[in-house]
Amino acid sequence: MEANLALANLLQVQRAQLIGQHIGNFIAPQDHAHFIRHLTWLRDNNKNGACAHCTISLVTSQQTQIKVRMKSTIQTDNIIHGRISLLEHASHPQCLADLAKSHAELQKEISGRELIEEQSRQHQEKLAHVARLNTMGEMAAGLAHEINQPLTAISSYVRSCLRLLEGDEKKRAQVPGILEQACNQAQRAANIIRHLRDFVSKSASHRETTELGNVIQLAISMMRTEFHTNNITLNVETLANMPLITADAIQIEQVVLNLLRNASEAMSDPQNNCHTRHLDIVLDQPSATHVRVSVSDTGPGIPLDNMKKIPTPFFSTKANGMGLGLAISRTIVEDHGGKLTHKTNPEGGATFMFTLAIDGKTIIHH
Ligand code: ADP
Repeated sequence: MEANLALANLLQVQRAQLIGQHIGNFIAPQDHAHFIRHLTWLRDNNKNGACAHCTISLVTSQQTQIKVRMKSTIQTDNIIHGRISLLEHASHPQCLADLAKSHAELQKEISGRELIEEQSRQHQEKLAHVARLNTMGEMAAGLAHEINQPLTAISSYVRSCLRLLEGDEKKRAQVPGILEQACNQAQRAANIIRHLRDFVSKSASHRETTELGNVIQLAISMMRTEFHTNNITLNVETLANMPLITADAIQIEQVVLNLLRNASEAMSDPQNNCHTRHLDIVLDQPSATHVRVSVSDTGPGIPLDNMKKIPTPFFSTKANGMGLGLAISRTIVEDHGGKLTHKTNPEGGATFMFTLAIDGKTIIHH
């Protein structure tokens, strides 16, 4: 998978000729069995950080043999990392110095790359978390209403139970049924709260088998009050046999919420004269490997000038907009092997759609 320049020099080949080759091609035939034992030991002691040493001879492109000491360690993801030190090779006096220097450089390069990847992953998670908190802040009023509904229902069920208990036997017999309904409502409130806690919690991304239809319904339920207040009607269409997908359900819900909230804001903006306020959400499967979600609104659409600016981070046409919702959504979608695209509909309004790899990772090339 990777080889440094010093090893290439030592074997008198180009680095590119080493990468992708079987390591056995560069090991002297008499040491093959010994080297396989070395690998077998590593495999059987397969835990991170397992380490083994062996002494073998490498073969150069000129068929000279060079005796080396190899120290192998198992890295995460089952990658074996071998360091080689020269034991003897008179014709390569420069080798030892080169080897040490190039090895240090390769190590630095790998750790630098890992550090950047880790930092960017952490950064994305933090950003997504901040955006979720922001979403929650904006939706607080709606959510309070969502939780208030079951609480109001519980209190009226309990009150009628108290009344019924004062009545005759026939009335008292109705009490268990009503208490059952009160319990269901308490469960509903608990589910809403649990879901909110999952939504805002700062958890690292994790993939699980997910039913996309459910995720869409949860996002809709978080927006229901806002849709109601703004007189927005809604239509959801889905295939009868949508496949289950591997995804981080909370992150996908965040993407859908961003699209729903943007659509709702676009249609409710008093500057836009939207006669009908309607949202179409369509779930389908455009290919064997991907599913797709489209959200179409009857808002003003996207001016040509802005088409290319979306979704650049911090691009927003709203007075209080952060301009992060779509940028974060795009990162999440791409992280799931999909693409986020947008267009203005011929009949007016905008459509935002995204694909997701069913297995959570296969990349699609449009
Ligand atoms: P914000 O909502 O904070 O502005 P977003 O990244 O979610 O950030 O959106 C960026 C911009 O994209 C919005 O300010 C708006 O101009 C445009 N936009 C997003 N969704 C729509 C839509 N459904 N219709 C028209 N314009 C939209």
